[in-house]
Amino acid sequence: MTAHSFSSKRLTIIGVGLIGGSLARALRRAEVCDEIVGCGRDERHLQKAVELGVIDRYEMDAATAVSGADVVVLAVPLRAMVTVLTQMTPGLSADVVITDVGSAKGCVVEEARAVLGSRLCDFVPGHPIAGTEKSGVEASFAELFDGRGVILTPIEATDAVKCQRIRAMWEVAGAKVTEMAVLHHDEVLAATSHLPHLLAFSLVNTLASLDESKDIFAFAAGGFRDFTRIASSDPVMWRDICMENRDAMLEVLQLFNNDLKQLEEAVRDNDGEAVVNVFTRAKETRDRFCG
Ligand code: NAP
Repeated sequence: MTAHSFSSKRLTIIGVGLIGGSLARALRRAEVCDEIVGCGRDERHLQKAVELGVIDRYEMDAATAVSGADVVVLAVPLRAMVTVLTQMTPGLSADVVITDVGSAKGCVVEEARAVLGSRLCDFVPGHPIAGTEKSGVEASFAELFDGRGVILTPIEATDAVKCQRIRAMWEVAGAKVTEMAVLHHDEVLAATSHLPHLLAFSLVNTLASLDESKDIFAFAAGGFRDFTRIASSDPVMWRDICMENRDAMLEVLQLFNNDLKQLEEAVRDNDGEAVVNVFTRAKETRDRFCG
């Protein structure tokens, strides 16, 4: 299947926010969908999505929204996935392929297994490695996935042809697609995305208490902004991610805590050599992967 072999007569997106809205815009740009239907909780958000030309129409009921759709994309926060899966299932067409964009995969796969039953073969778990600290359909844009990675984590039950179809959908949206085992995905993302978000939120929270006495944010410069940008992300979404990928998160957090403790001791002991060794290894590693 080539990058341009994707098309859909009716594609339904449940959760027309940053990710769902951006996917809709990217697929519109490629002119591969006859109709894009949205679904969500707040009608004003869906009206906005229609006004912006992101979706053609919307339904408030998930089963009605997926009726007649050949592709269904779940783009809601992780903790809303099970509700949406349950609500939409009675409306699914026989030939549908369902995918999701959730940032952790083990939890979604478990819920899909419980809810979809014999329709599990129609489900292709996925995760675009692209985003911003903004939320909602107003923040969505067609270029979000251009040149960015998307990880699909098919399981034993996943129909190979349906998996190819979702791969083609993301390629048409501009992304580069790879496949990975569910557990491996959750471990890798805990280290590269979930832990950094937790640290950014935690640092800014600590400084917020100090700021009452010390005027810290008035003197915050570019480095601080770079390091803490992701602390402007949606707290509820990131709570869901931390809780739903808890085991992998706790494992990498433990490693980080141990290393931070050692660094703290090196500073306390005035051990400049140990400190510079940590900083040098970190700099070389970052320069290598960013270069
Ligand atoms: P978002 O901008 O807040 O969009 C979430 C959408 O889901 C909203 O349109 C919201 O609309 C809808 N929604 C929330 N709860 C719902 C429910 N119970 N039933 C139906 N609709 C519901 O969030 P996002 O950043 O696009 O994130 C969506 C998913 O993408 C999450 O699973 C996240 O893990 C994943 N993801 C995010 C990023 C990122 O950087 N942001 C990157 C990769 C993957 P209403 O409020 O109107 O219901």
